[in-house]
Amino acid sequence: MFKSKYLLIFAIINCLRNCYIYRETAIWQNKRRSIMKEMTIETKVKVGTFSELPDCDKEVVEAARAATANSYAVYSGFNVGAAVRLGNGTIVSGSNQENAAYPSGLCAERTTLFWANSQYPTQPVEVLAIAARNSQGELETPIPPCGACRQVILETEKRFGNSIRIILYGSKQCYIIEDGIKALLPLSFDSKFLE
Ligand SMILES: [Zn+2]
Repeated sequence: MFKSKYLLIFAIINCLRNCYIYRETAIWQNKRRSIMKEMTIETKVKVGTFSELPDCDKEVVEAARAATANSYAVYSGFNVGAAVRLGNGTIVSGSNQENAAYPSGLCAERTTLFWANSQYPTQPVEVLAIAARNSQGELETPIPPCGACRQVILETEKRFGNSIRIILYGSKQCYIIEDGIKALLPLSFDSKFLE
């Protein structure tokens, strides 16, 4: 008899405790809903075909397309080419270079930017074009840069103090990003956080 009374009291206490926890959680969730606001980040991308590009952009894209032929992609079979036009008008291109130890390879975008910045350290990068092909041929949809390359593009913009016009080539359509890498890398980390 004593034992069943004890169990009943314990069950009531436990029930009251659970009700309290549930109520507190609901209050906290409601508070959170009312405090948090949404922030919208817009990305503007122009969409068109290669033939619609201005001649100065076509030239950079053609260099990126040609660079896919120099890609060393024996493991992925995914040949990427990139090209940049610098402030002095020079066009520099590069391609992805793979390695049996995968992280030792490098993307076409970084190969190109590092080479350009090391050979022409005073020349800003004004335009960057990216193209790719696989065993089927050129990609129909525009090829975007990976996250690590986006970070390097951001650093290049900061280094020279200008935004880079980015052209992502696809044989059916191209994306043109005129405002620079912030469109592809919102809420980015840069040197201002290190100050
Ligand atoms: Zn990359």
